[in-house]
Order: sequence, then structure tokens, then C-alpha cells
Amino acid sequence: MDKYRKLKQLGYSDFFDINRIKLGANADQVVRVTAEHKGVYEVIGEHGESRATVTGKRMLTATNRDDFPAVGDWVITKDTTDNTKVIVDILPRKTTLHKKYGGKDTSQLIVANIDTALIVESIDRDYNLNRFERYLVLAREGGVNPVIILNKSDLSSKDEIEKNIEDIQERFGKVDVVATSTIDESGLNELTQYIETGKTYCFLGSSGVGKSSIINKLLHSNLIATGLIGDKTGRGRHTTRSRQMYFTQTGGIIIDNPGSREVGLADSKSGVEEVFSDIEIITRSCKFANCKHNDEPGCAIQDALISGIIDASRYENYQKMQKETNHYQLSDYEKRLKNKKFGKYVKKVKTDIEKYKSK
Ligand code: GDP
Ligand code: ZN
Repeated sequence: MDKYRKLKQLGYSDFFDINRIKLGANADQVVRVTAEHKGVYEVIGEHGESRATVTGKRMLTATNRDDFPAVGDWVITKDTTDNTKVIVDILPRKTTLHKKYGGKDTSQLIVANIDTALIVESIDRDYNLNRFERYLVLAREGGVNPVIILNKSDLSSKDEIEKNIEDIQERFGKVDVVATSTIDESGLNELTQYIETGKTYCFLGSSGVGKSSIINKLLHSNLIATGLIGDKTGRGRHTTRSRQMYFTQTGGIIIDNPGSREVGLADSKSGVEEVFSDIEIITRSCKFANCKHNDEPGCAIQDALISGIIDASRYENYQKMQKETNHYQLSDYEKRLKNKKFGKYVKKVKTDIEKYKSK
């Protein structure tokens, strides 16, 4: 295990390594998923960060969200000719967190392999024991250890805070509760003591309770934008950030608010077309409609680059964005293919049942 120093820093342990060996995979095929954008994954491993997609085969055989990688997963990858890896397998999960929808039976995997869920509520307006209960159930069902954070303690009296902690412990029994404030910094040292090297943490809680502020305090940085701007759409403040995994100075691994950050960098083709409309217009003057703008004769883009009408670095950006949207479109395409196959399967089952009945 000492060989995998980098992997261990990312949270890798014997639990995963045993399963890696069972699957006959090499350690350098193992990476951890740090972010997901509609079927395109960001992964990190011994050799740093890269992008990955799942194999088409997995797309077709998957029956629900749990069959796909989630943030926090350890996956087996293969290198491809371009820089994107292909995910061929998911190592068995140590823990999971599923999001539940209303009273319905459906649930969605939001994050895997979390050791401790830090469940945050702000002590003022937002305080609600039933909500704690829902989060506690989610954590316990998935094998995740819960810790409750009562944030914004600066807005409450000491007596009130103590009363709240008593209420929580009376209702839920033995559960760790930490009162914190990112304003007067009380409770932050206590919270830090829960963060262990090589263990993975995630923050759960409603928008505005102070999760990002607390993470920034733990990281001693301002990596994560805080505040309520753009919260209504869930876009705005998050759209330029793709990363979801952070490391504290003591080697704790923090996954930032899983589940509510599924907005990709460029999730609509029309968005790219809008921003780079000038480039799009120039492509229409290329001699060939299917011009790849490399060295085809009569390429208007090459002309524009040479003459400086299009800035080279801007064009590079455009290509990058386009590649990303193409990834999304590919996965959409694969999803449709899968739906089609699933539709056929359902139809077959139905006719089988009809046949059976008519016997
Ligand atoms: P998130 O949506 O849960 O990530 O919440 P943010 O970290 O973005 O914080 C939401 C708002 O609450 C911001 O305006 C913060 O400045 C404020 N806030 C965060 N922590 C505290 C705290 O401990 N005390 C007070 N009074 N305000 C806080
Ligand atoms: Zn061209």
C-alpha cells in the first residue's frame, strides 16, 4: 500500500485495493472521480487530473444511476488516444449517499465513499429538527458517519445554542454536534478535530446555511464563492467552477455540496454558439461544409487565424468548449440509444406476457 502514496492522499485504502486486485486491474488504472458534468467525469490519480467518460457498453447495460460513477467513486480506467480516459469499472463502494425525491420510492446516488457527512444548519432562521432527521437517515442508510454543525452561532445566545444541542441529542441520541461561526470563528477548531488525514467528508444542508464559508475556513482560503447571488437558478456562482474535491492542510478530503452542482461548464450547444458567434459565422465560408479547419483547402478559419481576424487563443478556447459540448451530446446520444434498447426490451417482455396469457 505504501506504493500508492498519492492515491492514499486521495482517500484510497486497503478496502478498495483488495477489490482492485480481485478485478485484476493495475494500480495506475485507478483514479477517483472529483466532478461530473452530464456524463463527463473529472478524475484524479497517481498521474494527476484528467477527464473520463464511461464506455458505451456500460451506458447500454446500465439500469439506474447507481450503475454509473458518482463523485467520490474509485474507478478503473483505460487510456485512450486523446487525453480522455475511459472508465471500465467502478470499485465496490464503501459508503453511499442517495438523494430521495419527496415521498416517492426513487432515489439518486449523489456521492460515494464518504466517511463523514457534515450536516449543516444555521442556528437562526433555518433550524429544523425534521430536516436534520432526513439527512441523518440518508447518512446512516449509506453507512456514512454523521456530524451535525449548527452554524451562525454568532446570531444566537449561548443559552439558546445549548438548548438546541440538548434538543438534538434528546431526539437523535448520541450524535456529534458542533456549533460554529465563520464570523467570530468559534467552534472552528473543534470542527477541525473531526477532519482526519485520508478521510473523505462532504457537506450537506440547504443553500445559505454557510457550507462554502465553513469549507473556506477549513481550507484557509477563499477558493469557494460564498453568498446568495445566483442561488435561485443554481447557476451563476457555480458555473465557472468544475472542481468539487478539496484538501485540507491536515490531509482531509472535502467534497463540496454534492448533488446540487450538476450544472456543467457548457451544457448547451447554443450557449457556445452564442459566445463564439463570430467564429461560427466564419466557418460558413469554408469551402467544404464538413471542414475540420485543419489544412483543408479553402478553409476560412485558417485564413482568419493567419490574418489575425480570429485571435488564436480565443479559437483554442472555442475548440475546447466545442469538444465539451460534443461530449455531452455524445452522452445524450448514447442515452437515447439506451432508452431505445430499453424500450425494445419492455416491448418484448410485454409480448412474452401476452403469449404466456394466451397459452
Ligand atoms: P452555502 O450556500 O451553504 O454555501 O452558504 P454560504 O457559505 O454561501 O453563506 C451564505 C451566507 O451566510 C453568506 O452571506 C455568508 O457570509 C453568511 N454566513 C456564513 N457563515 C456565517 C456565520 O457563521 N455567521 C453569520 N452571521 N453569517 C454567516
Ligand atoms: Zn474550415
